[in-house]
Amino acid sequence: MAPFLVEVTEEDIRRERRKARDLRATQWWKRKRAAGVCHHCGGAFAARELTMDHLVPIIRGGKSTKGNVVPSCKPCNSARKHDLPFPTAS
Ligand SMILES: [Zn+2]
Repeated sequence: MAPFLVEVTEEDIRRERRKARDLRATQWWKRKRAAGVCHHCGGAFAARELTMDHLVPIIRGGKSTKGNVVPSCKPCNSARKHDLPFPTAS
């Protein structure tokens, strides 16, 4: 088990998922998605192909805030699913 693992409760996860859903409904997010650029690979995509990605995943203690969510294309999103955005000492 990773030493930096944070304690995240079911309730935290539910709350952050709810906040993510609210954030997806904002003009801020719609504009960001409409720009059509994947944060990770820099590729151009149709807005509907971009998903909301948490830089620090919710299960790792990440929050659904403007500073922690980015538009991501589906391949990048699934490639990152179980990765942390920073290198780990392995
Ligand atoms: Zn991408």
